[in-house]
Amino acid sequence: MSFEKFKLDEKILAGVVAAGYRKPTPIQAQSIPPIMAEKDIMGLAQTGTGKTAAFVLPILQRLMQGQRGPIRALIIAPTRELSEQTYESILQLGRKTGLCSTTIYGGVSISNQINRLRSRVDIISACPGRLLDHIGRGTIDLSSVEVLVLDEADHMFDMGFLPDVRRIVKHLPAKRQTLLFSATMPSEIRSLADDLLRDPIHIQIGDSAPVMTVSHTFYPVQTEQKTALLKDILEKTDTQSVLVFTRTKSRAKSLAEQLNRIGHKVTSLHGNLTQQKRKQSLDGFRDGRYEVMIATDIAARGIDVTRISHVINYDMPATADAYTHRIGRTGRAMKTGDAFTFITGQDAELLRSLKKLLGEKLQYQNVEGLTVSPSVYDSMGTRTAQLMRPNNSRKLFSSRAPLSRRPNQRSFKDADRMSWSPRAPQAA
Ligand code: AMP
Repeated sequence: MSFEKFKLDEKILAGVVAAGYRKPTPIQAQSIPPIMAEKDIMGLAQTGTGKTAAFVLPILQRLMQGQRGPIRALIIAPTRELSEQTYESILQLGRKTGLCSTTIYGGVSISNQINRLRSRVDIISACPGRLLDHIGRGTIDLSSVEVLVLDEADHMFDMGFLPDVRRIVKHLPAKRQTLLFSATMPSEIRSLADDLLRDPIHIQIGDSAPVMTVSHTFYPVQTEQKTALLKDILEKTDTQSVLVFTRTKSRAKSLAEQLNRIGHKVTSLHGNLTQQKRKQSLDGFRDGRYEVMIATDIAARGIDVTRISHVINYDMPATADAYTHRIGRTGRAMKTGDAFTFITGQDAELLRSLKKLLGEKLQYQNVEGLTVSPSVYDSMGTRTAQLMRPNNSRKLFSSRAPLSRRPNQRSFKDADRMSWSPRAPQAA
């Protein structure tokens, strides 16, 4: 299937070509026709599936006709980074259309946004908090919105934004098209969808399990050994860009400092940074100036950096859904990726859920002198003790060729490590 089949305006197709998209991704193939037919959509899609273009292209198509000037499309997303990325997609795909868009989020000057809103704007990509602020001040008019997109709705729920979203919706015309995208479907999102969507078309790409192109390797480790293990992995693994998740902002900051001191090019992304610093970090990570970014969950939600080869959970996420989102930062646009997760004694409960989620894809990894036996943390009472045996057939680390910018990087030495599969047959 090609993009021509959608009968998009030539000016929009020019944007698709400029973006380098040759074939629609599955979510684009399934969603673009019903969105163009002005149906409501409930899209259950993993991150990195191309869902932004799936809604941006039909919005551009719709707005090519009709009046220019009033805000006719509103996209609400949980984070500034995601709003910014969506805005950039609109700019890229819509560059020949003459449609005008802007972003609205907190942490930056509101007066610039007010000035921008006084001029012609057709499409807004916004975060809920600042958008409500503009509504309260009367500096935005949403009475002409024809299409509402709620992107990463489950993140908005996690971040406590659903009441804000409901408040915003009251300022929109009741007659509109509503598109809701979410990587997971907690009951709160289902009930939001029941309230806001009219006779929606349900689209599901895969299930909410982590993208299948990603490998999942778990390192049982003592808390005090985590940093040494991270350094060892960075030293011995062929990586491209590495995204490391920590639980707290202070740990993200201090870990970045420690790694910088030993010569890695590292930046961090967390809520204590100004918006300008967050943008600098993300831009530097995206263009390869930084090899590693240490981030907290909130800051890293939805970020689209296609070249991330490894996600490392230095600290376990809080839930299995959060794991899905984190590892969705790699394996984007159907590329392969590796997810490494450090597990400690406190993570036994989540480990159980992740085992159910990942099944045979979950592999344990031993690093001599740095990790402990998985049976120490695996309280399932299963066969883990017997499972501690080498699996030499498996190549655990990325098979990618080392990057030329790190020509001296050593590849991983099998001799140092062993791996186990939780579902391996009983030891002979
Ligand atoms: P998204 O899930 O919207 O964040 O998209 C993930 C990545 O896939 C982004 O970098 C997009 O630019 C890219 N992408 C979206 N659609 C396509 C396509 N049809 N072909 C190739 N890449 C795409």
